[in-house]
Amino acid sequence: MAEIRVENLRKQFGDFTAVEDSSFTVHDGEFLALLGPSGCGKTTTLRMIAGLELPTSGKILLDDEDVTFNRASARDIAFVFQLFALYPHMNVRKNIGFPLLSQGVAKAEIRKRVEETARLLQIGHILDRSVSGLAGGDRQRVALGRAIVRRPKCFLMDEPLGTLDAEFREVMVHELRELHNRIHATTVYVTHDQHEAMAMADKIAVMNHGIIEQYGTPQEVYNRPASMYVADFIGSPPMNFLKFQSGLESGATTIRLGDVPISVPEVHAVREPGELALGVRPEHVRFSDTAPLRGAVYGSEYLGTNQIVSVETAQGMVKARVPADLNFTIGETVGLDLNSDKLSLFDCASGKAVP
Ligand code: ATP
Repeated sequence: MAEIRVENLRKQFGDFTAVEDSSFTVHDGEFLALLGPSGCGKTTTLRMIAGLELPTSGKILLDDEDVTFNRASARDIAFVFQLFALYPHMNVRKNIGFPLLSQGVAKAEIRKRVEETARLLQIGHILDRSVSGLAGGDRQRVALGRAIVRRPKCFLMDEPLGTLDAEFREVMVHELRELHNRIHATTVYVTHDQHEAMAMADKIAVMNHGIIEQYGTPQEVYNRPASMYVADFIGSPPMNFLKFQSGLESGATTIRLGDVPISVPEVHAVREPGELALGVRPEHVRFSDTAPLRGAVYGSEYLGTNQIVSVETAQGMVKARVPADLNFTIGETVGLDLNSDKLSLFDCASGKAVP
């Protein structure tokens, strides 16, 4: 298996910087999601790892070997684009075996490896069927089979579920993660979809304008976002920001939103007075008659298992995820209790979390 190490990777297209000084390690058997909006440099990063794009500077190491200038074909990496591209005139067996055939692997060995792969993907019973008659899920499995039959050191996947409709996408997210649990191949997966990244990855690199804003487990990026950008990009609805003017003292455990005192986790930094933002996720806001932070109910969105209620406070709109059967009326004044263990503080000028 394989470890991928990327050191100070940078890519310029003319004077535009698509990827800026990226460094990260994908450990053997780990699943990394490169997550960010369109144009943030995910695909360019992946193409450099694959050897399809030459970096402007920086290094790529595969199992400690510097492969920065190796050709793509010399890297033993499988690059999976959309998972639908199959050869329509071949049956399932031939589609899966094709990469081995083109590598000159002996017929008996191809047969053995295709059957092993099919067992892994639970498609052994359709090996002799034509791919043109297959349903979407099976087509996807055959395409995956074609990628894994080569037993590459690692997989690079660029939005492989991009064209699928929502329901089928959810099924494939589950299957891809299951497959990963079985074969533990080092994987880098590009997506703009936070749900896919959270559901599948061991680690997430959140990218913004060519820069990795945060690299961590799904829990770390969700619970301890390093910046307002990450807090806003991950979570649905995203984190609320309540802005206020203040300084901070090291050791402080209370802040003041206007006149309202709020308990926060201990602050470890000193801040000159300036604009700060208190960050709170909707599920950490509760309605409470006695809470000093108050606002008027603006609207609600019923989700079945719960509902998202928007409350207009003096510091801005706050969304709260509350029980589906909670009653209130539009315009009613309510108190909002914020779970003090789960709050984040950000410096608005830099956008970074205050330690
Ligand atoms: P998407 O999901 O839309 O592909 P992405 O995050 O994968 O987005 P990239 O495809 O890596 O982003 O592109 C990053 C930036 O680099 C974009 O602004 C893109 O226009 C630019 N870019 C990519 N390839 C080239 C190229 N060959 N020449 C010039 N600019 C490029």
